[in-house]
Amino acid sequence: MTDYNWCHNPDCHTIETQSRVRGTGDNKVLRTMKIKQGRYNYSNDDTPDIYDYFCNQNCLHQFLRKFAREVANIRPVREPSETPIKIEKEKYESYRYEWNSGPNNETQRVPYMATRTIIKNSS
Ligand SMILES: [Zn+2]
Repeated sequence: MTDYNWCHNPDCHTIETQSRVRGTGDNKVLRTMKIKQGRYNYSNDDTPDIYDYFCNQNCLHQFLRKFAREVANIRPVREPSETPIKIEKEKYESYRYEWNSGPNNETQRVPYMATRTIIKNSS
């Protein structure tokens, strides 16, 4: 049995697309989009997917903008989390550009030794 959800964006039914038009004769309406559950679940397991609840990115983000505080309060974050890591520093040759610094006012590419931080495995 296939289950369906209605798009959870409270304004889904106000977006003017042909796919939302329903009704007969002069009794036309724009209706909230109906979503087939698991439509993007290619592994056929019960992994939850946000697009089981929203018809597209536009509706998802309209919902998130409208209910941002409520969404954040579902799982409040009151302090940062930390992941222990090891790092390695590595020197490499990079370039910076000096605009109009050449003999004929052209841009010059100037090499220099830069340092990058490499994050090693976190366990
Ligand atoms: Zn929608």
